[in-house]
Amino acid sequence: MIGSGDFRHTRAPAGRFGFNEGGGPISHRVTKHIDFCYGHRLLNYEGKCRHLHGHNGKVEVEVVSNHLDHRGMVVDFGDINKVIKTWIDAELDHKMLLHRKDPLVAVLQQHRQPCYLMDANPTAENIAKVIFDYAHAQGLQVAEVRLWETPNSFASYGRPAPG
Ligand SMILES: [Zn+2]
Repeated sequence: MIGSGDFRHTRAPAGRFGFNEGGGPISHRVTKHIDFCYGHRLLNYEGKCRHLHGHNGKVEVEVVSNHLDHRGMVVDFGDINKVIKTWIDAELDHKMLLHRKDPLVAVLQQHRQPCYLMDANPTAENIAKVIFDYAHAQGLQVAEVRLWETPNSFASYGRPAPG
């Protein structure tokens, strides 16, 4: 049994992360907003999104680190732009985001309409995952990607802080 006088000696080591007063892990996080426009429609769905339509989407890319670089940064905001915005502009912006099994894909491609094909229904959830996976593959220590489909609704995909 630990006596009450020993409590001050039983604090857990901080490890790679510091700890806030509540005892949870803390880290540095930065978030970059990126705007883009996209069209889509959802298969096997009864709501309005089963029809072709578009959104002014906003992406939030959150990058996490337990320590800052020599500049005092998690990552330069400009570097997030260089990696993620460049890719979004080239691959997703003003494109139709469609399930690759959508029968409209053949028609749109026949008429030279640019499409980005996905292995899953192009919901906000799955678009957020596509962007997260790309950011991760590019070496960004991304914690979460949020896709705002409207000013009132977003879906996120991410992981708990490392440690
Ligand atoms: Zn929609």
